[in-house]
Amino acid sequence: MKVPGIAALGPDALSLGPDDLANVLKGNSGRIKTVITDQKVIAGIGNAYSDEILHVARVSPFATAGKLTDAQLAALHDAMITVLTDAVTRSVGQQAATLKGEKRSGLRVHARTGLPCPVCGDPVREVSFADKSFQYCATCQTGGKVLADRRMSRLLK
Ligand SMILES: [Zn+2]
Repeated sequence: MKVPGIAALGPDALSLGPDDLANVLKGNSGRIKTVITDQKVIAGIGNAYSDEILHVARVSPFATAGKLTDAQLAALHDAMITVLTDAVTRSVGQQAATLKGEKRSGLRVHARTGLPCPVCGDPVREVSFADKSFQYCATCQTGGKVLADRRMSRLLK
């Protein structure tokens, strides 16, 4: 199917094998959260599912994309396929109107700031930007390190 204007899209996330993912990320000095939601790098991963994928893979959203270890890359690939496949399976047979609620109910960390992480029970944390925010679990993903939140930093100045 040809759609005008999407010629610059990266490869579809579900079409990537583990080696393909490593190649796509190789040499990229961006933060992994930003990189995997860039549709020009990998197509098909939005803000919500990227939070879920990084949580399942136990990778920090601020990790440098091109510096992930082989183990992290393997975990990230597994998580990407699992989360996106689950999402597709859940949406089968759903009415469009109920999809959003269903999608939300299956989430582990995204949009769950302050609620217990389903893996470790610690509160899910949030990083906010001017126009968006994302969620992660410090215990599971960053070795307990709380990531800088620009909104909070600004308030503290
Ligand atoms: Zn956790």
